This record gives sequence, structure tokens and C-alpha cells, in this order.
Amino acid sequence: MSKIALVGIGKIAVDQHVPAIAGAPEWELAATVSRRGTVEGVEAWTGIDEMLAARPDIGAVSLALPPVPRFAYAEAALRAGRHVMLEKPPGATLAECHVLAALAAKMGVTLFASWHSREAAMVAPAKAWLADRQVTGAHITWREDVRHWHPGQDWVFEPGGMGVLDPGINALSILTEILPAPVHLQSALLEVPANRQAPIAADLAFSGGVTAEFNWLQTGPQTWDIQVHCGDDRLTLREGGARMEINGHDHDEAVVGPTGEYPRLYERFARLVAAGESDVDLAPLVHVADAMMLGARKNVEAFEF
Ligand code: NAP
Repeated sequence: MSKIALVGIGKIAVDQHVPAIAGAPEWELAATVSRRGTVEGVEAWTGIDEMLAARPDIGAVSLALPPVPRFAYAEAALRAGRHVMLEKPPGATLAECHVLAALAAKMGVTLFASWHSREAAMVAPAKAWLADRQVTGAHITWREDVRHWHPGQDWVFEPGGMGVLDPGINALSILTEILPAPVHLQSALLEVPANRQAPIAADLAFSGGVTAEFNWLQTGPQTWDIQVHCGDDRLTLREGGARMEINGHDHDEAVVGPTGEYPRLYERFARLVAAGESDVDLAPLVHVADAMMLGARKNVEAFEF
């Protein structure tokens, strides 16, 4: 087992990272770094530099903080020669991701820009099904309730928080994984609450007849669907990639490896470290950056949690 430190003990750390590490045969949670958050029974630090200096035996660091503050922590861990796993999105800007990738290469350590949605059970089967087909169009419907998934987290609406593109990038991480050929953004409409900096809803249009609608105000059942058309054939990923339909019929396939998105991420991180490789695919973040560059802004009603 290799020792790992988890940084940023907040919603996703508690919901997913802690149980995934606890269940991973490759990893032992040896320390946490968080200003307030702790994990019962695990050595807790409030500063990354102090932890890195005191625990040279901890070879890997997983960063579950929001993207804006995450860069400084990632840089410190890489400079200290530790392998680093980044939550999605891998950075607040593309340039800082390139800086981290170059630093990891220079230090000879692994940098893993994780995309948890790519580990959903039916993403790999969908990619295989599409591999030798001609895609004629696709539509993403990603509608969820920000008050449920990000309760009180004002950072999601601040610069660098990405607004509804924070969950939207999960859909884009699947899209960029399964499409046999890349697409590029052609236009976008971003609906920004009058009292906020980032969109609460967005419509994106890409080349190749690919469109996406993201909305953060859906209460009740949540919708995370991606429909891909190949002429008369239709592949639909539902529930964020957990289910797949071909022409409306459920399609099951045995999942290889651990089940669950985060257990699969930690297994993948261990494999990358063992192989001495990095994995930093920025394609989903490119689409978000393009939407911010090219998107028309529409002011909408103020939003409070
Ligand atoms: P969060 O709970 O708001 O933040 C995680 C922790 O990061 C906080 O508890 C805080 O811990 C630390 N932190 C926050 N701001 C900081 C700052 N300025 N400087 C230093 N530390 C800071 O956020 P989250 O929902 O877990 O999201 C974190 C990341 O996971 C995001 O990139 C998000 O996209 C991703 N993610 C979230 C979800 C979800 O459903 N929420 C799902 C998948 C992925 P301390 O106060 O103890 O330092």
C-alpha cells in the first residue's frame, strides 16, 4: 500500500474520496490537509508545506479543493516530488494546467487530471460502440439542482468557479472521451444571475451538429443524458453514463475493475504512478474556456442559495 494525503476536506472529499481511498487496496490515507476539515482517525494538517516537510513517506497527494485555490497546493506538492491527482476541473485556467504538467514532467512524478464522469460504467462501452461509426449529431441534457449538489458554495459562482459549467464539464468529459473525432465550440449563450459572476444555465453549440444544454435550477429528478446520433442509430447515455441505451433498448455490459467512479479513479492513479506516467487531458476544459470566450451573456434573475 502507498501512503496518500487528501487535501481539501469538503463535500466531495467526504462523499467520495475518503470512502474510495478506504476501499482501495493500493492506497492508505495517511494524512489530510484542510483549514477546518478533518477525517476521524487520520493525522490532520492545516498547511500543505508543513505536511510535505514532515511526511516524506507520503508519496502522493490528492487535491479535492475548488479549482482556484488548488493550483498553489498542486505546485507545492509537485515541487516536493509527490505524485498529484487533481479533482475536475484540473485548473481555473488552461495555462496553469500546462504549468503543472510541465512541472510534473520536470520532477519525474505523475500528474493525473481526473475526470470522474469518464469512469461511469457505460462510458467505455459507449466509446467502443461509437469507435467505427459516423456520428451525425449529439445532444447533451445536463440539468441538476445547484442547491443540492453545492449547498452554500458561493465559489461556484465566482470567477474561476465556472458556474453551471462545473457540472457541465462532466458531460463534456464524457463527450470528448466517446466521440471518435473531436468537435469545436461554435457558439454559446450563458445565463448569468444579476448578482453573480458565472452562469446558472448555458446552451452550447459545437461543430458536427453537437449541442448541449446545462441548467442548475432543476429540482426533483435530475437529468444527466447524452444522446448521440449515427444516421438512424441512436446511443443514449443516461444517469451520467451509468446506463446506456441503443435505439431505446437498455444495453448492459460487464464492468471491468472496481465499481464506482471514484474507486476506479484511485485504481487508475495507482496504475499511472506504477507506470511512471501522467494523464492530463484538457479537452473538456478547452470547451469550457471557449464557451467563456465566445459565449454571449444574458443577465437573469439574481440567485441566492
Ligand atoms: P467544497 O466543499 O466547497 O470545498 C472543498 C474544501 O476545499 C473545503 O471544505 C475547504 O476546506 C477547501 N477550500 C475551499 N476553498 C478554499 C480556499 N480558498 N483555500 C483553501 N482551501 C479551500 O467543494 P466540493 O464540492 O468538495 O468541490 C471541490 C472540487 O470537487 C471542485 O473542483 C468540484 O468541481 C469537484 N467535485 C464536486 C462535486 C460535488 O458534488 N460537490 C462532485 C464532483 C467533483 P477547508 O475549509 O477545511 O480548508
